[in-house]
Amino acid sequence: MNHPSDVTGSVPQISGLQAPGYYRLTAGDATITAISDGALKMPLDKLLTNISPEKVAQRMALAAMTPETDVSVNAFVVDTGEQRILIDTGAGQLPGYTGGHLQDNLRAAGYPPESIDLVLLTHIHSDHFGGLTLNGTPVFPNAQVKVSQEDARYWLDRDNFDDIPESRHRSFHNAQQVMERVRAAGQLQTFDLPAQVHPLIRALPAPGHTPGSVVYLLESGADKVLFWGDIIHAEPVQMQEPHVAIQFDIDQNQAIRTRETVLAETAREGYLVGAAHIAFPGIGRVVRSGEGYRWIAVS
Ligand SMILES: [Zn+2]
Repeated sequence: MNHPSDVTGSVPQISGLQAPGYYRLTAGDATITAISDGALKMPLDKLLTNISPEKVAQRMALAAMTPETDVSVNAFVVDTGEQRILIDTGAGQLPGYTGGHLQDNLRAAGYPPESIDLVLLTHIHSDHFGGLTLNGTPVFPNAQVKVSQEDARYWLDRDNFDDIPESRHRSFHNAQQVMERVRAAGQLQTFDLPAQVHPLIRALPAPGHTPGSVVYLLESGADKVLFWGDIIHAEPVQMQEPHVAIQFDIDQNQAIRTRETVLAETAREGYLVGAAHIAFPGIGRVVRSGEGYRWIAVS
């Protein structure tokens, strides 16, 4: 039988879409699925601090990349068999962002949004909470949404507004708009750190990037998986040079101390890592290398 394209003599149309972006592995009794939301374009030579633009270009070149690069936006589902827990939600409808594929990729992975029982946010930045609503409506109608009390206090308390620089005002409006919808739907819960946010998952403080940033440690059987949110934005640079910060860090010095602590512990304990901004699927391990560290992606 002729291929359809032989009939007309034309080349089959190619949609330009990627295959569904999810990646699955097991940890103890749990199934972990990395979900791609897309990628954010970042001029790292302008955003990274504590390093010269030339050095950034050098480090990126070693990874066959340029300083202006697409940075993955990853979220993760932990499926315990009884509960489905989503860690971060991608950027949703962020202006100028071409991602927002979280919902489609969740469905492709067998997890329609209504099947999610619990959403854990590593912090209140739009590329992590943006997928919580679509056109103002909560996307995960059956989920509790948990975030640290400290980040909720910083981003959702309108009294803070006068004390913050104008460059962050839009982020505040954005956070309040989305998070208030979730709160109004009765879904929002805050916790003090450290916290057992699920029988298998602990939230541990990772301040600096935002005041109430956390990492989530899953202990499932003999396996430990650390979902570390924004500990690293530029893996080709910051893994080797953890003292390099990024302008999105609210307290850069604290963010550097946190990064150094988390990297040291991750390498020492041999955690598997789920990283929000390391190339999809953002799952791998950290080993010491010279003065810094090296990322070993899952194969
Ligand atoms: Zn982020």
